[in-house]
Amino acid sequence: MGKIIYNGELKTRSDVKVDIEDRGYQFGDGIYEVIRVYNGEVFASNMHVNRLMDSAKMIQLKVPLTVAEIEALVKELIAEDKLRNGIVYMQLTRGVCSRTHAFPINEVEPVFVAYTKEMPYTGKVKPGVKGVTTDDIRWLRCNIKSLNLLGNILAKQQAVEASCDEAIQHRDGKVTEGSSSNVAIMVNGTLKTHPATNLILNGITRQVMLKLCADNDIPYVEEAFTVEEMMAADEVLYTSTSVEVTPIINIDGQSIANGEPGPITKSLQKLFSEEIERQCGAV
Ligand code: PMP
Repeated sequence: MGKIIYNGELKTRSDVKVDIEDRGYQFGDGIYEVIRVYNGEVFASNMHVNRLMDSAKMIQLKVPLTVAEIEALVKELIAEDKLRNGIVYMQLTRGVCSRTHAFPINEVEPVFVAYTKEMPYTGKVKPGVKGVTTDDIRWLRCNIKSLNLLGNILAKQQAVEASCDEAIQHRDGKVTEGSSSNVAIMVNGTLKTHPATNLILNGITRQVMLKLCADNDIPYVEEAFTVEEMMAADEVLYTSTSVEVTPIINIDGQSIANGEPGPITKSLQKLFSEEIERQCGAV
């Protein structure tokens, strides 16, 4: 970790101060993105920055920078920090003004922050992890990558307390997504994942994976599935910028199929690692 982009300028961390009346700090009134860097190159940069723009639009937040400007700043930050493998975290809040729930009456400059963090690439073959199911208690605009993450935090904490890696959330018995990931199952050779509605965040990893399915004749459907279907599935996997494509081999203490990562998940991991290499070079 080195520099921080603060409203378009590169600064050192100790020089950046958060105002106690920043609406992100007080209300979680803002949005964020996490972008992966391999080999010093940004993975799916444009998709992430465009999603940030979409989230901003949905909360009526004017972004003071263009997509190209943000992408350029991110590159500058990576070069400045000499980051090889890691992430860029960026967030935009509605800015600083005297505390009141409604938007500020007078025009307020949004606050944009971005910084890097090292994260090693763990390779294409990842061991399976454990999941725990939990009620999805979140609001109904999960498609917005909002700073309000209390529902996700409480779900993840439940996973940690159950010695599991991820909490798999469900609404009325239908699986929505993980606390910080998307979830998919394999049934009879077809991948099934929740459609990109207001009930999930349309993960960039999810979108890249579905494109890889389409390009490699792996059938898929974007349909919600029940917890029962998931427990009886041939394979379960989850995806995110941090975990890429990772098998879930045990849920609520019960093995999925034979309790080993499945063949299609392994193929998808290989395809995903090839996509990383295509975009960022050999890691
Ligand atoms: N859903 C939620 C709730 C998330 O927090 C994340 C991680 N940002 C994802 C899905 C996966 O999104 P992505 O693949 O873009 O990281």
